[in-house]
Amino acid sequence: MNANMKDTTERAGHCLCGDVRITANSASNSVGACHCKTCRRWGGGPFMEIDCGASVEIDGKENISVFDSSDWAERGFCRNCGTHLFYRLKESGQHMIPVGVFEDSESLVFESQVFIDEKPDYYEFTNKTKDLTGAEIFALFGSS
Ligand SMILES: [Zn+2]
Ligand SMILES: [Zn+2]
Repeated sequence: MNANMKDTTERAGHCLCGDVRITANSASNSVGACHCKTCRRWGGGPFMEIDCGASVEIDGKENISVFDSSDWAERGFCRNCGTHLFYRLKESGQHMIPVGVFEDSESLVFESQVFIDEKPDYYEFTNKTKDLTGAEIFALFGSS
């Protein structure tokens, strides 16, 4: 999802109530935003996330509900406090984790926006980012 996959940091975070703790061993330093309708319905606004790959340790898994949001991905949240914990690709196990879940924001750079064509007109980020439409995303990562 981003050009700086090697530029990673170990990051730790937790949900609001503390029932779920997450350690991402190689989290990207590149923050992305997704403006798609599904993400905005899920979180009430654009999904600000970092790519944490498949190497994610979760303490308190039994407190997570996982919602099957599409043929290719699922979304996890704390069943006690409702904090959104991950968007996970079923096949690769890749986790996109909401950046706000993590303790600190050191080294993070907001670099990309996807489904820019689904962004409503009532908000706009001023950061200089690489922006992709939904069609461009599907072309990059396969249409299924
Ligand atoms: Zn919680
Ligand atoms: Zn989305």
